[in-house]
Amino acid sequence: MKDLAQVQAAVLAASKTMYKRGLVEGTAGNVSGRVGTDRVVVTPSSVGYEEMTLEDLVLVDLDGNTIEGSRSPTSEKALHLECYRAYPEVRGVVHCHATYASMFAAAQRPIPAGIDEFVIYIGGDVPCAEYRQSGSDELAAELAPHLQNRSAALMANHGMVCVGSSVEDALNSALIVEHNAEIMWGAELLGGVVALPEKAVTDFRNIYAFVRSDIWSTR
Ligand SMILES: [Zn+2]
Repeated sequence: MKDLAQVQAAVLAASKTMYKRGLVEGTAGNVSGRVGTDRVVVTPSSVGYEEMTLEDLVLVDLDGNTIEGSRSPTSEKALHLECYRAYPEVRGVVHCHATYASMFAAAQRPIPAGIDEFVIYIGGDVPCAEYRQSGSDELAAELAPHLQNRSAALMANHGMVCVGSSVEDALNSALIVEHNAEIMWGAELLGGVVALPEKAVTDFRNIYAFVRSDIWSTR
């Protein structure tokens, strides 16, 4: 299990990669990582990713109280904390506004799992939670249940949230979801996504479920 310094380094590195890879623009999006069982390192509100340093990160408890740091935590703090409270195996959360995934979110449509390996990594199609206002406790409560057997979910008219066994794992899921969303968007233009055979989906969902329940906690 990673200590505080390791999680802080991972959150900062993932934030900068998220920005460089174009998953967010400006100061949008946010990243967090769990330390031990009940502390979370979160990115600050309104600090640019290129100039962000370790000192800008904020350490909070699962109730959202600041333990360490002088910045205001991200405005989506409630969303991150709800994911950690709901799922003890989750150790990293990434929220971003990646273009293709956000197109599906704006259309309030799930992103289909039209590539079979996607099911192994993400758990199946990416569901779209109902619209709730950005930064609200209601958004956190609406979204978290969608992540029970998925590593990603869409927030209607907003963007996506990914969870993982680490900060790096959550970021990797965000990149996979965005890549898949672009492919599915193109497939729609070519006449529509053809569904995978049910057996493949079931088999790969089982692999995802096994990895999440038995492997995530050992990382
Ligand atoms: Zn957002």
